[in-house]
Amino acid sequence: MQIARVALDVPLHRLFDYLVPEREELSAADVGLRVCVPFGRRSRIGIVVELPHTSELAIERLKPIEAVLRDLPALPADWFRLCEFCATYYQAPLGEVMLSTLPASLRRIAPPKARTNHRRTKPPPPCDPPELTAEQQGALNLIAAAERGFKAYLLHGVTGSGKTEVYLRLIERALADHRQVLLLVPEINLTPQLETRVAARFPSVDLVSLHSELSEAARTRNWRAALDGRARIVLGTRLAIFTPLPDLGLIIVDEEHDVSFKQQDGIRYSARDIAVFRARDRGIPIVLGSATPSLESWANATDHRTPARYTLLSLHQRAIDSARLPVVQRIDTRTEKLQDGLSGALLLAIEKRLARGEQSLIFLNRRGYAPVLACTNCGWISHCTRCAANLVLHLLDRRLRCHHCGSESPVPKACPTCGNQDIQAFGRGTQRLESTLAERYPEARILRVDRDSARNRKQWQALAERIHSGEADILVGTQMLAKGHDFPKLTLVGALGADAALFASDWRSPERLFAQLMQVAGRAGRAEWPGEVLIQTQFPDHPLYAALVRHDYPAFADVQLREREQAAFPPYTFQAMLRAEAPHMADALAFLETAKAWPQAENFDEVMRYDPVPMRLARRANFERAQLLIESPSRRALQTYLGAWGAALAGIKLPAHLRWHLEVDPLEF
Ligand code: ADP
Ligand code: ZN
Ligand code: ZN
Repeated sequence: MQIARVALDVPLHRLFDYLVPEREELSAADVGLRVCVPFGRRSRIGIVVELPHTSELAIERLKPIEAVLRDLPALPADWFRLCEFCATYYQAPLGEVMLSTLPASLRRIAPPKARTNHRRTKPPPPCDPPELTAEQQGALNLIAAAERGFKAYLLHGVTGSGKTEVYLRLIERALADHRQVLLLVPEINLTPQLETRVAARFPSVDLVSLHSELSEAARTRNWRAALDGRARIVLGTRLAIFTPLPDLGLIIVDEEHDVSFKQQDGIRYSARDIAVFRARDRGIPIVLGSATPSLESWANATDHRTPARYTLLSLHQRAIDSARLPVVQRIDTRTEKLQDGLSGALLLAIEKRLARGEQSLIFLNRRGYAPVLACTNCGWISHCTRCAANLVLHLLDRRLRCHHCGSESPVPKACPTCGNQDIQAFGRGTQRLESTLAERYPEARILRVDRDSARNRKQWQALAERIHSGEADILVGTQMLAKGHDFPKLTLVGALGADAALFASDWRSPERLFAQLMQVAGRAGRAEWPGEVLIQTQFPDHPLYAALVRHDYPAFADVQLREREQAAFPPYTFQAMLRAEAPHMADALAFLETAKAWPQAENFDEVMRYDPVPMRLARRANFERAQLLIESPSRRALQTYLGAWGAALAGIKLPAHLRWHLEVDPLEF
């Protein structure tokens, strides 16, 4: 009797053996087919991983496979290696990795018939490639001169320097080579524009997109087209990194620094890091592009002590001759008096734009009306009852909302504690800024762009179109506005409240702030109109702002990396975080103490274990949260440790309602 070893979507670190019915006999080429198997009381879809000769279980105890599904080609061997890498590196069960990366309809019994008509959105007008700038040509020559095989490039180019054009030329080469191309972008919002641009360049090439807002049928259809080789270009967000691509010849990761590449729940993988593994495994080039690369990537490309792992390609100038980088200025708010949070210099600059019919963007990374509502009499403040956080006042629909757990309540008419009717909004969010500006400039058309006004891709696109067609004079927005869009009439960016990130307790905050400010600054003056950026700050001499004024990412990055090295922070050390949450903090901490006290830990002298501590947001949605940091100067040592420790963790007896997870290379603290 033939045995098949099957991966199932269950939270267990093991595979399951089944008998293959004679009529269904499998050959080596059938490894990678989906099967339907009995599991517990029901049937499940699994993937055949191996055809072993023996099983740990006695043959009589093995159950037979119910059906072998041949509606899809077998998943290819390199896809298996990708999933195996992900499972090992992130300490996740292989079956969970494999099945969770399939479109939902393919992991269910009796999948709905995917419609086969391959609809394409109407083809955009074809467009001829521009002549390359010297810098673009230089970057391409370097890549073209390389031998075939794996090579990782970090394409660092200021906003508007023409990185996308470099991608397009590389894609052209790969297509001519009969290879498939995988192009990853951080946000769903960015896929349609890029899709239009790529489709216009390659009108006769099959291009599919993969992201979470596609209908299930569309996602299944696109995924299949990738697997059977019909789709030659796959454009997608982080989940697309797992698309099986038999002819894959090039991977591009745009805005590689973006935290959206990191999955924040379930299997906490970094799509960018997996992409580098995948390129190496397939022996193909990968290009990571950004105006503000992650410090990890920057170190990989510039570290002089070890041979650089990535090749650095730099574009210093904007691609369009007339498009100059914007002038960035600091406004010292210690000396300038603010009116409703706005400095005279910024107001004047806005008025100039209004007079000239140009657009201004005021950037404030905090949505809602005000971060807190408070009683001036007794000191009551609007607290979330489920989280250790304030409720944010949203005045438009008169609600108090928790940005951590989503719970909400109506705005009280009087203080719930003392009955005082004079309760006030403190601080400033995008809604308040919007109404301040509306009062000051009643004729101006003001548009707010944040997660409240653009809840999904459609709404955001509608807003973007209005901005693009000049239907707005002043934009008020969060980082949503910072990404990717070209607004030709936008010539002024004002940044408010940026200082908070300078001294935040998360040591990655400056890196994120710099990237965000570079990105918003990049929105100003993209076409013929020069741009101006005004940053309101109490710390105008801070080196971060000084580097920003000079558009000098390398200087900023080098200072940050030196600090990180001295403090032995990543990328000079490798980390994993064990997190636990429970109704009571004591339970969460006790679990972490038990985990830390693992007797075999003594054998790993390169691995450092810190003490369990409550998380910064110590309570969320009625769960108290704590974490335990594990660290090592050696990635390999950390991996070995985690492999052994992970198995031990699974054996710890848990109190009721305790949940835990392990995150490798955590990004947030
Ligand atoms: P990035 O991706 O670096 O932000 P883009 O590729 O979007 O930059 O290019 C910015 C602008 O410059 C776009 O409008 C693009 O069409 C234009 N552009 C890019 N390369 C060239 C070139 N070689 N000649 C003229 N225009 C170019
Ligand atoms: Zn009160
Ligand atoms: Zn809450």
